[in-house]
Amino acid sequence: MYEFWFIVGSQVLYGEETLRQVKKNSRAIVDAMNTSGVLSYKLVYKDTIKTAAGVTALIKEANYSDECAGIVTFCHTFSPSKMWINGLSLLQKPWCHFHTQFNLEIPNEEIDMNYMNLHQSAHGDREHGFIGTRMRIGRKVIAGHWNNPEVQKRLAKWQKAAVGAAVSKSLKVMRFGDNMREVAVTEGDKVEAQIKFGWQVNTFPVGQLVETMEQVSEQEIDAQIDIYRKKYIVEDSDLDVIRYQAMEEVAIRKLLDAEGCKAFSNTFEDLYGMKQLPGLATQNLMSEGFGYGGEGDWKIAAMTAIIKSMGSRSAFMEDYTNDLKNGLSLGAHMLEVCPSLAATQPRIEVHPLGIGDREPPARLVFEGLEGEATLSCLIDMGSHFRLIVQDVKCVKPNQDMPNLPVARIMWQAMPNLELGAECWILAGGAHHTVLSYDVDAEMLRDWARIMNIEFVYINKDTRPEALETELKLSELVWRNA
Ligand code: MN
Repeated sequence: MYEFWFIVGSQVLYGEETLRQVKKNSRAIVDAMNTSGVLSYKLVYKDTIKTAAGVTALIKEANYSDECAGIVTFCHTFSPSKMWINGLSLLQKPWCHFHTQFNLEIPNEEIDMNYMNLHQSAHGDREHGFIGTRMRIGRKVIAGHWNNPEVQKRLAKWQKAAVGAAVSKSLKVMRFGDNMREVAVTEGDKVEAQIKFGWQVNTFPVGQLVETMEQVSEQEIDAQIDIYRKKYIVEDSDLDVIRYQAMEEVAIRKLLDAEGCKAFSNTFEDLYGMKQLPGLATQNLMSEGFGYGGEGDWKIAAMTAIIKSMGSRSAFMEDYTNDLKNGLSLGAHMLEVCPSLAATQPRIEVHPLGIGDREPPARLVFEGLEGEATLSCLIDMGSHFRLIVQDVKCVKPNQDMPNLPVARIMWQAMPNLELGAECWILAGGAHHTVLSYDVDAEMLRDWARIMNIEFVYINKDTRPEALETELKLSELVWRNA
């Protein structure tokens, strides 16, 4: 289980009594924030820093702790920043500079110079901020009182982004088959991705999956069918087809677990020895947190796993077709839409698949939730990776579409369909995305900052002209970064 280390800046100059009070107040801040129920992960008060050796020792410890997903610093008093340089130069964990203060208000009668020296973060956090900026260290800055739920929520969101970074650093992606032939945007540099994100992306033979499928027992399939019956609407007349998906799911999970993979990709062009493209199988695996990318898209498979770790109602998605009259986009995939997005209980249905030359596969069919969401995609620019995020508003589909045999989500892109699409296309955004109701643009920006990659955000205020200029300038920064 991940935790975050709370590190308080001070110095020896103030004397024992003040330092005791700093420690007491800091512990009270941490205790209250932990009991607030708002934070995503536990804060652990580690130490009040008084010397350069103290900073270095603590940062070394944080770097090597598997539990520590990030550090949160706050300077209760003044804490001279040259003291922090050697330690911060070693920092490998996400950093949030939390500019808070023990007291909410200035106590009119009590304020004197002792009070001023003790409650000095307005002063100390500026010195602390300077050294972060001077050293060019990307970090989150959050300002506000520690007892304010809105401030706590922002810290909670940053914690999720930092955990997304930890998940990324240890992520393994299993590829069955290569990318779909001739497709450009799903390609990318896997060595660079591992250097940048930590992903171990490797291929496994489809034949090994088929062999594993053949070894799945009837009892294992029965148990999987029981799970489907609890979660979804099952038609008994389709049971033979559904049992084949159950067998695929059991086999895929065995291989993923054996390798410690939390994401996978496959392609309808390489299903040698399989009767059905995994549809329901993939959808149910995604609902348990596994990342997935269709057509060999290992980048979006990894991003789906990471964004799911930051917020569960997140899923692999694809822009399919537009309602230009009403300014709406329809997203779906051939089969593989995660049921964590479903507005109602999904139905298992069996329909033929136009491509792939296999038997009609079972898949989950449902309509998506309404509400604010984000679409994200990661592209490889050759020189660097770019994360593109767009705000969207998901709506109830404006038609029943009774002959559409897949799960579907309808949304209104920001700032609107036309301008949003122009911005997305100018930025080079892919047709494969991760749609999330739980992970907003601020969290994705935080994640991109931690991973040190380019972040492009399309929202209600974005216009193509300004974005084009922004992308050109950004290219200067990132091309040689
Ligand atoms: Mn696709």
